[in-house]
Amino acid sequence: LTSRILIAMAAGLGVGILINLVNATGWLWPAMDYGLNEIVVVGVFDAVGRIFVASLKLLVVPLVFVSLVCGASGLGESSRMGAMAAKTLLLYLITTAIAISLALLLGTIIRPGDGIGMGEASTFASQSAPSLKDVIVNIFPSNPVKAMADGNMLQVIVFSILMGIAISRSGNHGQQIRAWFENMNEIIMKMVGILMELAPYGVFCLLAKLFAELGAGAILELGLYFSTVLLALLLHGFGVYGLLLKLLTRVNPLTFFKHLRPVMMFAFSTASSSATLPVTLRTAEEKLGVDNRVASFTIPLGATINMDGTAIMQGVATAFIAQAYQIDIGLTGYLTVILTATLASIGTAGVPGVGLITLAMVLQQVGLPVEGIALIIGVDRLLDMIRTAVNVTGDSMVTMTVAKSEGAWDQQVFETEAKAETQK
Ligand code: ASP
Repeated sequence: LTSRILIAMAAGLGVGILINLVNATGWLWPAMDYGLNEIVVVGVFDAVGRIFVASLKLLVVPLVFVSLVCGASGLGESSRMGAMAAKTLLLYLITTAIAISLALLLGTIIRPGDGIGMGEASTFASQSAPSLKDVIVNIFPSNPVKAMADGNMLQVIVFSILMGIAISRSGNHGQQIRAWFENMNEIIMKMVGILMELAPYGVFCLLAKLFAELGAGAILELGLYFSTVLLALLLHGFGVYGLLLKLLTRVNPLTFFKHLRPVMMFAFSTASSSATLPVTLRTAEEKLGVDNRVASFTIPLGATINMDGTAIMQGVATAFIAQAYQIDIGLTGYLTVILTATLASIGTAGVPGVGLITLAMVLQQVGLPVEGIALIIGVDRLLDMIRTAVNVTGDSMVTMTVAKSEGAWDQQVFETEAKAETQK
């Protein structure tokens, strides 16, 4: 499957770029051009791509609910849950802090914004960052059905944990319901599997449409900004995660990255950690060997609150905009960036482009012009895809680490799956 998705990605990229070139040079006469763009790109590619993303998203709420109820009811003692939650949160916060510090460091060393003229005013409405109190209060749902309908992941998580704990304390009644949830979990995981089989088509269409319409000019113009973000993403995604894995779990990071390839490809193609969640969860359990009791909690939580790639973009973007407008925000400014970016990411779901919206809050908080976003918006889509891959890698890395420390990791699955893949 991994190689089929990879081929689909390459084909989508190639076809997209080809269409882009045809459009740019105006080779084909108008009728053909009209057919190519309107029917193929805007029509077929767009429709298939959107159906693919919608069907992934479709599974998110039922999957998180059912899987986490299983996980929390299996955990039984709520004290275990508390220890696991504390570890997970701490690791998510630490990795995000490392990510954004790395980004700010590279942003201030490379200085991609020097010599850039001020951008035009954009229509970005300024919003202030939510307070810590609001973020915490909003985690608790008053209506579970509404939370599910809105796809409010943190609220769904709270409700599912509560239900799971109640099941574990309800004796015989609990056992029956638990069996039902476990069966249901199997079925939803099967649905994820079926969708993954269809992924090559979806991925092909998503990438072909994107690259057919991508303006390559912006990337050339913003080359230094683009490469700084890319460098920080690569360093963090492979270097920092690899090192942390080695230090904290002693497993082979290469095997980990190998298992994670499909997850990264899904994240890259959909630019949404939410939509990728079903694949991340399935991979964590079936390839990384993480027990459902840990993965069902850490993965959905991470998809919502842990966005290291996004934090990296925001760090570099803040440095870039400060340099472009020649404003010095000082050390406190940079510390505020770290805090605001982390807070802002907690309450926002992992969907395409959300990082740009929370960036507006970050800029506002340190007194930088929000219009600065207009400067970088041209290359954001491509960076969004790459940073989403980093976001989901971070979720999986933390999940592995927590699982290992909780004794909820199956080394055999991790290694046999790797061998099976090599032999294929
Ligand atoms: N697209 C990212 C995600 O889903 C969020 C962002 O950086 O815009 O993780």
